[in-house]
Amino acid sequence: MNDQTWLSVAEAIATMLAQVSTALPSERVALTGLLDRVLAEDIIAPLDVPAYDNSAMDGYALRHADAQLEQPLTIVGTVLAGQAWSESLPANSAVRIMTGAPIPAECDCVIMQEQTRVEGEQLWLTAMPKRHDHIRPQGDDIAQGQVLLTRGQRLNAMHIGVLASLGIGDVPVYRRLRVALFSSGDELRLPGQSLPEHCIYDSNRFALMAMLQRLAVDVLDLGLIADDLDALRAAFVRAQHEADVLISSAGVSVGDADHTKTVLAEFGEIGFWKVAMKPGKPFAFGRLAQGWFFGLPGNPVSAVVTMDQLVQPVLRALAGEQPSAVSAWPMTTDCTIKKRPGRADFQRARYAVEQGELVVRPLANQSSGVLTSLIEGNAYIRLAAEQDNVAAGSVVDVVPFSSLLT
Ligand code: AMP
Ligand code: MG
Repeated sequence: MNDQTWLSVAEAIATMLAQVSTALPSERVALTGLLDRVLAEDIIAPLDVPAYDNSAMDGYALRHADAQLEQPLTIVGTVLAGQAWSESLPANSAVRIMTGAPIPAECDCVIMQEQTRVEGEQLWLTAMPKRHDHIRPQGDDIAQGQVLLTRGQRLNAMHIGVLASLGIGDVPVYRRLRVALFSSGDELRLPGQSLPEHCIYDSNRFALMAMLQRLAVDVLDLGLIADDLDALRAAFVRAQHEADVLISSAGVSVGDADHTKTVLAEFGEIGFWKVAMKPGKPFAFGRLAQGWFFGLPGNPVSAVVTMDQLVQPVLRALAGEQPSAVSAWPMTTDCTIKKRPGRADFQRARYAVEQGELVVRPLANQSSGVLTSLIEGNAYIRLAAEQDNVAAGSVVDVVPFSSLLT
């Protein structure tokens, strides 16, 4: 691909996804360590959940045919959760039953305690039950043999709860993706140190590192790299040995101190350099002899937005995750939005419910240097490349900030 090729955002993501695939080995991890890990195999339910018909209420189990309001039933015993009722049930009798206890074989309904009156051994019903009332049937939640979760699923708290309900103590997941990260630029200084004139603090690396932590990857922090060919080469060598992916910010442009391109050409193949996206210029993607490289823009907003919108889906794929579409919500903007045709725009915006309606408004300062716009905003207004100014009252696509930013 030559240097001048401009790709749309969709083309850029599709091009990258077409090239990468998971090559990560898997490991078995116990339930307590599974949050945000990616399943390496399908999970088939080894049993029914619940495993037996059980009571949803504290009350009395009975045969529906015996139920009547005129005569009392005889209470013949009690069954607690964790026990079973194995005796036969005489006519016109009921068994006291607690929530979660198995339903006695001959019973077909449960009446809740609040709809009964007890006098000694006698149980008066104060309402007529229906058949199957308050019985949670076997397999109601999960059926044995069902494919419950599929390979590539990133596990959240609820997946972990469901696995536990099946008695599964550990599952195979891909090992964590290893991502090396550096910032480049002679002007950069470490937060916590003094700031010489004409220098700035390195903010990108810390924002990006925290975003990567949300993705549950292992981060290899390569620190600050000066605008120097040999320093860059050394960073690439380390990344190739110790990581699956290398991400850098700044230095991928055409400025006099932008050497990353040169070094990438020595270590691998340049993918593409220009994505028609704002903020987001310049963005680089390449294949290394071992691993992958993403070169993010230096401007802080651009670095974060390209990480969020372009790199995140590819990292997820490399981590073994099945792709899922990013959804945009249609919302009305109550002000004009300035836009020139050319590049797709991800304007930082804030949406809110006002008078019962969702309204979105772009933030006043859209400069790619204004990092606080990512605190003030909660979403992007996504405008297509060819889009011109947008009139107030128009419906626009709103993409909420992903979990990496919030
Ligand atoms: P560059 O891509 O090297 O031309 O950088 C573009 C802009 O981003 C310049 O104003 C840089 O000073 C700024 N910049 C580059 N790297 C960082 C960083 N790690 N943190 C904050 N700003 C940066
Ligand atoms: Mg620079």
